[in-house]
Amino acid sequence: ALESNQFFVVYQPIFRMDDMALVGVEALLRWQHPTQGVVEPANFIPHLEQTGMIVAVGREVLRQVCRDAVEWHRRRLPIRVAVNASAHQLATGDFIAEVAAALRETGLEARYLTIEVTESVLMHDAEEAILRLRQLKQLGVRIAIDDFGTGYSSLSYLRQFPVDTLKIDRSFVFASNDVQGRALLHTMVQLGRSMGLETVGEGIELETELRILQAEGCDTGQGFLLGRPMGKDALWEYLIRPRVASDRQAAAHTN
Ligand code: C2E
Ligand code: MG
Ligand code: MG
Repeated sequence: ALESNQFFVVYQPIFRMDDMALVGVEALLRWQHPTQGVVEPANFIPHLEQTGMIVAVGREVLRQVCRDAVEWHRRRLPIRVAVNASAHQLATGDFIAEVAAALRETGLEARYLTIEVTESVLMHDAEEAILRLRQLKQLGVRIAIDDFGTGYSSLSYLRQFPVDTLKIDRSFVFASNDVQGRALLHTMVQLGRSMGLETVGEGIELETELRILQAEGCDTGQGFLLGRPMGKDALWEYLIRPRVASDRQAAAHTN
């Protein structure tokens, strides 16, 4: 599949909660299977990890995403891009060097790139993970803990991981409608805030979930309600649409 270019990336928009401005995108891998159509990551990433092929595929993803980001920046859309990295990728000796090379070769400024890692990846070998994340941070990239709250989170380690962002798992956003769920969400957002971390609400599907996250002071959010993952061209169309609309508004005011 890698050799015949069957892997591709889709992008899900991430919005700032107070003004709903688009601030970034998360890159999500897809496999265009020759007969089965588009396959979702849950159905092939475990195999890529088991075989170690995730390293080669991840390298391509990283490059592609950096290239796309540079193109958007050139078109005056300075948005951030987030790339998921699995345990296997983080553990290989040259992941740091690969990130550095992707930045250097594409010319993307490091501060626009976020590497997302899940808690379970970090906790698998926390000491090693701390070391790796520190090296990553030295490149200037941002680091996010993905699916926060679902892994074996050790709060004592949270202090030691040099992370910038907590991505609050969809299960907490989903459960925020009842009293206990709301309390838990509140606590997670406050935890992030008091540690000086950006908080992202994941998997927002309902208007009520969006309102609750906004009321709790969550910084940014993503979800089907706000925007589905989409191909590069579709994203571009989507990105220029609100601008065109606001230009029209501006024009209407001057008339
Ligand atoms: P993730 O990083 O937590 O990505 C978010 C997942 O939630 C995506 O699933 C996205 O499509 C889905 N999602 C977004 N908004 C909503 C919503 O409102 N409702 C629901 N139900 N789901 C929503 P996807 O694309 O199937 O990816 C699944 C996981 O596969 C990702 O979870 C990530 O851990 C992994 N993954 C995706 N791309 C890559 C990659 O390039 N490399 C690696 N190592 N892992 C990847
Ligand atoms: Mg992610
Ligand atoms: Mg997630």
